[in-house]
Amino acid sequence: MLHVNEIRKDFPILDTHVFGHRLVYLDNAATMQVPEPVLRAVMRHYHEDNANVHRGIHALSERSTRALEEAREHAASFINARSADEVVFTSGTTASLNMLADMLVAQLPSGKAVVTTVMEHHANFVPWQQACARTGHPFLVAPLDGRGDLNLRALEGLLDANDVGVVAFAHVSNVLGTVNPVNKIVAAAHERGAIAVVDAAQSIRHEVVDVQAMGCDFLAFSGHKMGASTGIGVLYGKLDLLEGLQPVRFGGEMVDDVRIAGTTFTRSPLRFEAGTPNYVGAIGLSAAISYLENLGLGDVRARETRLIRHAEDKLKSVPGLKVLGAPAVRAGCLSFAIEGIHPFDLATMIDKLGVALRSGNQCAQPLLHEEYDVGTITRLSPAFYNTVSEIDYAVDALVRVCELLRSKR
Ligand code: PLP
Repeated sequence: MLHVNEIRKDFPILDTHVFGHRLVYLDNAATMQVPEPVLRAVMRHYHEDNANVHRGIHALSERSTRALEEAREHAASFINARSADEVVFTSGTTASLNMLADMLVAQLPSGKAVVTTVMEHHANFVPWQQACARTGHPFLVAPLDGRGDLNLRALEGLLDANDVGVVAFAHVSNVLGTVNPVNKIVAAAHERGAIAVVDAAQSIRHEVVDVQAMGCDFLAFSGHKMGASTGIGVLYGKLDLLEGLQPVRFGGEMVDDVRIAGTTFTRSPLRFEAGTPNYVGAIGLSAAISYLENLGLGDVRARETRLIRHAEDKLKSVPGLKVLGAPAVRAGCLSFAIEGIHPFDLATMIDKLGVALRSGNQCAQPLLHEEYDVGTITRLSPAFYNTVSEIDYAVDALVRVCELLRSKR
């Protein structure tokens, strides 16, 4: 059981006022606020231990390096990786997936296809699409069923009808909140000899992300969706697969031997971390993991589930509002359209009442265009520090804004 009033003290930003109203921050799928213990861990590192990592023999460099490698161990244990060598630090999910797409597609035997899904964030769609366009590999997209779940039969049909090398999919959709059946999709990929890549950007806080239980080959997530700073993320990969990849980012620390005649590369994870890594970000990520672990991950997830269910119920009271999709399991966020109201007008006006929602295409244009025939929508995404009364306030504000916008016509 979480003591939300106590927890909120760790997030002073939640007491901010916006246009004279207390902030109601319901844009957590875009980024979560950073708790004080994470900020303190980052400050402490700058105050006491800061030096570049892996490069010096002096005391501070050793302390900084140790802190980075402890953060790697912590991230590895958080996702139940077999070893810290399977955790590559990147600047976030987008960077992880771009690097992976470049590396994996370059090594795919000719003719092998990449399959993704129509519900992907652009970060797990465009890198594969572009890598395939460059190399001539087929790029295929699995559709949804009518409810907002992945159409597993259609996905399996694609896998059977094509020679597929990679299946890349989101654990949780950043628009519909759909929780995909990871084990089934990974098994379907593996049965056909394909590599399974999971985008865990949204699920990392809402769901159990256990790479061994999932059986996935690669997985990506961002620190800022779980209380760390921006600019830090993870690319997880099974060690044997990582070791088989040729790096595509080059520079200091990732090399073994550099000569005019050629260069050899060191092992994972440093093989994929060219240049100075965001070691302070990694230390913050470890502090964010500790923060969530101390709260109790089960309690965090249960509270977020309760809040999203409450939002779904409460939104039924808004005239003309249609929630996109009704997936079997929804986590983290939901998106909606309101008849006759443009999402940008809505977000602009509700902002004046202190409510932060996200309006736009949510970086998911294939989903919006192919499945729902809309260009923009509004998304509401609570975190464990939100309250039921904040959601009620936001929904009442929605009703007021819609009335006002309709009265002006
Ligand atoms: N994948 C999903 C499902 C997301 O929701 C996001 C961000 O919203 C990303 C990828 C990209 O994450 P980042 O912007 O942190 O790289």
